[in-house]
Amino acid sequence: MEFQIFSKALYSTWILYRPERILFDSGEGISTILGNSVYAIKDVFVTHGHVDHIAGLWGLINTRNTAMGDRDKPLRINYPAGNRAIEAFLDFIVSMNPRLRYDMILNPLDDGNEVFLRTAGSFKRSVRPFRVKHTAGEISCGYHIYEERRKLKEELSGLTSNEIASIVREKGRDAITDIYTQKIVTISGDTFALPPEIISNSETLLHECTFLQEKDRRNQNHSSVEEVIDSVKHSEGIKRLILYHISGRYTSRMKKWHSFVQKELEDTGVEVYVVHPEHVFTL
Ligand SMILES: [Zn+2]
Ligand SMILES: [Zn+2]
Repeated sequence: MEFQIFSKALYSTWILYRPERILFDSGEGISTILGNSVYAIKDVFVTHGHVDHIAGLWGLINTRNTAMGDRDKPLRINYPAGNRAIEAFLDFIVSMNPRLRYDMILNPLDDGNEVFLRTAGSFKRSVRPFRVKHTAGEISCGYHIYEERRKLKEELSGLTSNEIASIVREKGRDAITDIYTQKIVTISGDTFALPPEIISNSETLLHECTFLQEKDRRNQNHSSVEEVIDSVKHSEGIKRLILYHISGRYTSRMKKWHSFVQKELEDTGVEVYVVHPEHVFTL
């Protein structure tokens, strides 16, 4: 399993990315639903300080403190620097849990910062925040997960496999490859639809989609399905789209909306998934 997600706009949102044991947002109910899996979480990346995204933090931090937890592994909480609601809540949690058995690292992030997840030989993954537009005064961000990859140097593309093998024997594997970084996951956070320059070339895009009907939207703080579709149509390199943070008003018609988005994006080849507001989603 790659993703485990619960997300219902206004109530609770959390996204577990299992390959790296990292959590994006920590809405209420997370510890209850994840059970023993909370012990494995290494990093939490908080998008902003609205209660539906942070209410589960206290439970998560507390549950991880029980005897079953792995006490050697620290828990790092990453969040947009200067977000007062998150800072005040973390202050409160720390003051209520003065004897944590593991290290809790608070890591405020600014644009341009990078958080390394793991490095094993040539395998490197990291998370970088980017600012998004949400409600006035709320410092909010989304996150990209990057992976370092290697590809054959362009000037060698005409060579035969024997010729390439002989370069490797002579000069080593590094001589034939260029390193590049691939966006493997993008998480929008709560925001107006992200522009193509941010979401392009992300293999898996998780985009909030609070409103499935434009007419239901009162303020310009969240995305509507039309905007997300438009942005994805103008982007390239997206393989999977997961719509989340959907309003509970649409629960009885989720199949219909899923088919609608699939049909709209048919020509792009993007696989479409929709997180039902009342169920835990897995992929
Ligand atoms: Zn929200
Ligand atoms: Zn919000």
